[in-house]
Amino acid sequence: MTKITFINANIYQHEQQGFQPQQYFTVDTDTQRITAMGQGVPSEAIVDQIVDFHNQYVMPGIMNAHTHINMIPTYWAEQESGIEDADPKAIQTMFAIKNMQDLINHGVTYIRNVGSAYDIDIPIKIMQQQKMIAGPRVMTSGKAFTMTGGHGDKAGNEVNGVDEIIKGVRQSMKNGVDNIKLMVTGGVLHNGETPDDIQFNEDEVKAAVREAHHKNKTVAAHAQGNAGVKEAARAGVDTVEHAFDIDDETIDIMKEHKTFVVPTMNAMYAIYKYGEDTVADWARQKVIINIKKHFASIKKAAAAGIPIAMGTDAGTPYNGFENESAYEMQLYVEKAGMTPAQAIDTATINCAKAMHVSQDYGEISVGKVADFIVMKDNPIQDIKVIQKEKAVYQGGVCVHQPA
Ligand SMILES: [Zn+2]
Repeated sequence: MTKITFINANIYQHEQQGFQPQQYFTVDTDTQRITAMGQGVPSEAIVDQIVDFHNQYVMPGIMNAHTHINMIPTYWAEQESGIEDADPKAIQTMFAIKNMQDLINHGVTYIRNVGSAYDIDIPIKIMQQQKMIAGPRVMTSGKAFTMTGGHGDKAGNEVNGVDEIIKGVRQSMKNGVDNIKLMVTGGVLHNGETPDDIQFNEDEVKAAVREAHHKNKTVAAHAQGNAGVKEAARAGVDTVEHAFDIDDETIDIMKEHKTFVVPTMNAMYAIYKYGEDTVADWARQKVIINIKKHFASIKKAAAAGIPIAMGTDAGTPYNGFENESAYEMQLYVEKAGMTPAQAIDTATINCAKAMHVSQDYGEISVGKVADFIVMKDNPIQDIKVIQKEKAVYQGGVCVHQPA
């Protein structure tokens, strides 16, 4: 067993909404957990190694509750590269491995993948756990569930009616998923539907929630228009993804059911900003119609005290696996009225709670797994600091050093 004590650290604590100065903490790299912590210098320094952080800023590793690791964010710009002619399963697997590396290099230490063609995220999770590939820890969903012809039907599981949903969810859990992803409404990147269309009916969503919760799995609902968000929250899903539009009644239902919202604001912003010449017009028009409403809806939810868990929808056009997670936090500060500390919480403790892993992740305290990032400057003063080069640790082991 190796015990490492990190000294002279400013450590982020969500209870204080800020950094505590002059801290030390000790990690046992066998269990990957923090075994001791305190102010100043540890009294009994029986450790194998001491690392001096020279008053740098340490916060929990970034968690991203909405990724698609098999997707290629530049795909839309590369129609002529021939990439679409390659075997999709092979090429998506290769990109998943690359995307995992990019995520960890940019401080993302845990992802919840919410929809993956061919169930690619299941073997990716196993390979990461066995240290065959680098990357964040992975919570899997396998293929997302959608109605016949619904959002994401090409890569998803098409099911219809309560019986098929029950069988499908049970099969997914048998395949090894940690979370169930349901397409409750239409969306942007699928032609012939709108974000306001209801797709799964409430009895279908309820059936999926019941089956998943029986096995202690979570449910994430893609729901954009208000009617769909309301339906998903009432049916008891754990997280609502996107939430373009919500009214006061929806807020009340979410409070009653303790629903988390995963905003994915950068998915909209990136298509709006970079997609003019490459993203299909039918998709970009939906972004133009909905982006202001979406950002206002997230601001309203945050102001009402609905817990927000950071998610980017990484893999959609121009929305990749590098600093987009940190940029999403910047959008929360600039467009959704959050303080920098609240934005940090969305990507750490709130994600951990939304993913039901807060007993082990999401904060730096004794007993927790030592996934953290180390920055030269203070992100409370400027949230953009998180986008700069940083050291990344998983289980107390450095997995990326700034260049
Ligand atoms: Zn998504």
